Amino acid sequence: MLHRLLLSVSILPLFAAQAAHDAAALRDTAAREDGLAWEITEGLTTEIGPRLAATDAELRALDWGAAKLKALGFANVRVERFTMPRWERGPASAEIVAPFPQSMALAALGNSGATPKGGLTAELVAFDGLEALRAAPADTVRGRIVYLTHHMRAQQDGGSYGALSAIRTQGPALGAAKGAAAVVIRSIGTDSHRLPHTGVTRFPDGTRPIPAAALSAPDADQIERILARGRPVRLRLDIATRVTPGAQSGNLIAEVPGTDPSAGMILIGGHLDSWDQGTGAIDDASGVAIVTAAAKRIMDAGRPLRTIRIVWFGAEEVGGNGGEAYAKAHGAERHMAVAESDFGADRVWSYSVTAGAASAPLVTRLGTALAPLGITYSRSAAHGGTDVAPTAQTGTAVFDLRQDGTRYFDLHHTPDDTLDKIDPVQLRQNVAAWTATLAVLANDPAGLAPPAKDAAHD
Ligand code: ZN
Ligand code: ZN
Repeated sequence: MLHRLLLSVSILPLFAAQAAHDAAALRDTAAREDGLAWEITEGLTTEIGPRLAATDAELRALDWGAAKLKALGFANVRVERFTMPRWERGPASAEIVAPFPQSMALAALGNSGATPKGGLTAELVAFDGLEALRAAPADTVRGRIVYLTHHMRAQQDGGSYGALSAIRTQGPALGAAKGAAAVVIRSIGTDSHRLPHTGVTRFPDGTRPIPAAALSAPDADQIERILARGRPVRLRLDIATRVTPGAQSGNLIAEVPGTDPSAGMILIGGHLDSWDQGTGAIDDASGVAIVTAAAKRIMDAGRPLRTIRIVWFGAEEVGGNGGEAYAKAHGAERHMAVAESDFGADRVWSYSVTAGAASAPLVTRLGTALAPLGITYSRSAAHGGTDVAPTAQTGTAVFDLRQDGTRYFDLHHTPDDTLDKIDPVQLRQNVAAWTATLAVLANDPAGLAPPAKDAAHD
């Protein structure tokens, strides 16, 4: 042990010069044998479990992660705390009172208000999508429970989530503005299990949150069949919630220091917090695990030209608080590129880059490094994700390694988001993709140029 220690101390300075990272070799080793991404995902989901933002569980996860990143040998490991309100769910139940009495499976949405003690009962008024509710006169909604439905289908790129998630994020506030007693939505998901999908909803500052909840897809189908019979439907909701102002969350930061501090950093991350129903395996323990395992491979192969900064963001789910706090503290630092893994753990199938036109040769080299993994170039704009978006808005390049989302919204924000849903082979393919990408981007002297001012960053 002493021998090993002496050896590593004496050899380290030799590697202080920029390493010639062999992207292909590092990629293939990761695809074959990476065990670290699984170890982190398994550890977080087993030893911490659910990690709701600004709870003691999330703080324990930050400590767990800091110890892990230090033990792995990363530099400058620290937690940067911030203050925010904590929202927690209590018991929630729903039942159809008339015309066909029966109970329903539902989950409160994040930021939902509570019903009065003993619950509330009101007639249901249904709308197909947000625009239909927007167009409705307030007197058709006032005092009623709004039911919002949609027709989401599974897609490889998860494309419809962008538009349909507005039903969840905005529907309850829109209902509240028209005087609704509560808003109940069909879960934003693609499965047919009796497991409701939670997720955040937003009420404007200064307004009182009304009860807001999601029904599982089979319960939503049931409601729609009953509504189709044309008789008034009365629903009873009993939802408890609690809000604690001034709670603590934080971002966990670690680095692989580069040899050239002026070259600008590559910021990579995922989010440490999760919803409380499952253990947040695909959303997003696997994301922090993938980027960390890739950065570890680069670090172990020798010091890169530019610094790689890893962030395990806190409080993404409830409003992107961690990403905002990071950009506030570090947005002025020089970031060469930002990226995030937050779409599960299935294989990466395409990549996209939003950068200046001068970077085209580098983007082509990236494609060469990724092609053997079955990853193709996509022309669409890179989005980065909620956590890195505020930093991207300072004008940095963004890259996406897009995962196959075909089954992501079967599990997303449900009690079914658990470790057994992760395929170790596909997880390793993710690590291989990130490793190859970092090997190319962290050592290219020019790096990715900032995108033209009008490039999409949404
Ligand atoms: Zn996520
Ligand atoms: Zn999520």
